[in-house]
Amino acid sequence: MLIELAQGDITAETTDAIVNAANSSLLGGGGVDGAIHRRGGPEILAECRALRAGHYGRGLPTGKAVATTAGRLAARWVIHTVGPVYSATEDRSPLLRDCYVNSLAVADELGAETVAFPLISSGVYRWPVDDAVRQALTALRGADTRVQTTRLVLFDEKTRRVAEEVRSAGP
Ligand code: ADP
Repeated sequence: MLIELAQGDITAETTDAIVNAANSSLLGGGGVDGAIHRRGGPEILAECRALRAGHYGRGLPTGKAVATTAGRLAARWVIHTVGPVYSATEDRSPLLRDCYVNSLAVADELGAETVAFPLISSGVYRWPVDDAVRQALTALRGADTRVQTTRLVLFDEKTRRVAEEVRSAGP
């Protein structure tokens, strides 16, 4: 699987699927979640509400992933996953890696061959950017998937630069 680092707004990605750093309510939030719902339109939220009314009555657990339509976005699907809130005293990195691995498993079920990820947990959930990148790359490299290309879409130039430094520093 090819792992690309990119910079920009993930809602503009033309991959088969884009991943949303959602919260467990699935009912919308700020950051990348807000941007996806704003640009993708109400169809996405309608499917999220249906998930809450059905299998995910208690919300989507941290580390898990589930797909909806991408509404008006160029992608076909949005894969919603819930990152862990960063903790300085507890190692929650297995859950962060689960987000990437489980999102790719959902992509496999959908038949998506290209997937764009935001840097999960690195915004409101306060994960340090360099370690968030390290966890993302570790999880993506280790995943057993039919997805051919993943793009890690960093929102701003500073984050992209950090991501490139982390990648060139090696595992
Ligand atoms: P979390 O709650 O998982 O931390 P956030 O959405 O707050 O999720 O932030 C995750 C990352 O996504 C942050 O690095 C943030 O800068 C970035 N981000 C915010 N909006 C967008 C967007 N439209 N496209 C790509 N990345 C975004």
